[in-house]
Amino acid sequence: MSGAVWNPLDAHQDTPLLVRRLVAAFSDAGGRLIAPASVTAIEVETGRCRGVRLADGDVLACATVVVACGPWSNELLAPHGLGVPFQWTRFEAASTGAAPFRIGRVVAGQSLFRFFTPPGMDAAAFPRDPSEQIRPALGFTEQIASMPDGSIQFGCAYEIGSSHDQPTVAGQAMACSIMSRNFPALSELPITRQWAGLVAQTPDGLPVIDAACGIEGLMLNTGHFFGNLAGAFSGKLLAEAATRSDASYDITPFALNRFTGRGHAVRPRLSLAVFHHKSG
Ligand SMILES: Cc1cc2nc3c(=O)[nH]c(=O)nc-3n(C[C@H](O)[C@H](O)[C@H](O)COP(=O)(O)OP(=O)(O)OC[C@H]3O[C@@H](n4cnc5c(N)ncnc54)[C@H](O)[C@@H]3O)c2cc1C
Repeated sequence: MSGAVWNPLDAHQDTPLLVRRLVAAFSDAGGRLIAPASVTAIEVETGRCRGVRLADGDVLACATVVVACGPWSNELLAPHGLGVPFQWTRFEAASTGAAPFRIGRVVAGQSLFRFFTPPGMDAAAFPRDPSEQIRPALGFTEQIASMPDGSIQFGCAYEIGSSHDQPTVAGQAMACSIMSRNFPALSELPITRQWAGLVAQTPDGLPVIDAACGIEGLMLNTGHFFGNLAGAFSGKLLAEAATRSDASYDITPFALNRFTGRGHAVRPRLSLAVFHHKSG
């Protein structure tokens, strides 16, 4: 292996399990889940949030709406002049069937050094695998980990500025080529899934966490680029901002008005509604 990072403190999140647990905790706490459902509009009257309109035409009345729709948040926010300046990136991944070996924690390879170029180093100087030349528009984060069921997950080819949310031949070729060279035993395993997802990044790379964006009752929790890591904290901070006066962390620096220059409304009281998009 020409370059890799292994840190015993690294961790790998089982996202489907995490989401199942969050949904169960939400339901156990009295929350009502409506899924699948798409919100098509936020209902606003005289500067106050009144609820949301669903794709089937139903309107759900509620005092507080949290927009946490990732890259798609602007579809709901832009009509109210609250668009977030996003740059989209597609990340691709793949998983295999159960492997007869396990990878301890996460192994990250040399492409990750280009993605997170350390200060003083020239990203262009890092050697490239021939498969990275197939489609130069693609980058690669080079990570691989074992899942609890024994399968292996690996990736991630990425394309900055793309709104195309399906895995590509070049992206998958790059990941399969580099990973099966670094881990020869991987090359024998069946591929069971290949997928891609979109993430949105703000100009300063920080999320938008805003409990008072200018429309009373409307809260924002969006713009997470590495949101697996940061998203749980953002959710906790926003819930605190809605329900307590003594928040554990000041979220003001994450307000949308750092991009728009618009003023703040009064902080809303929280009443929850959760939506899960069919294609998400
Ligand atoms: C392949 C891949 C690898 C990644 N690797 C990492 C990693 O190693 N570490 C890390 O920290 N992050 C990683 N990320 C990024 C991470 O997944 C995102 O930052 C995170 O999911 C953002 O969370 P979010 O809840 O803000 O938005 P999202 O996860 O995008 O969730 C938004 C949800 O809103 C739904 N939605 C959208 N519009 C509507 C609507 N109108 N009505 C109802 N629902 C709607 C969508 O369907 C979606 O379910 C990776 C992403 C991908 C795709």
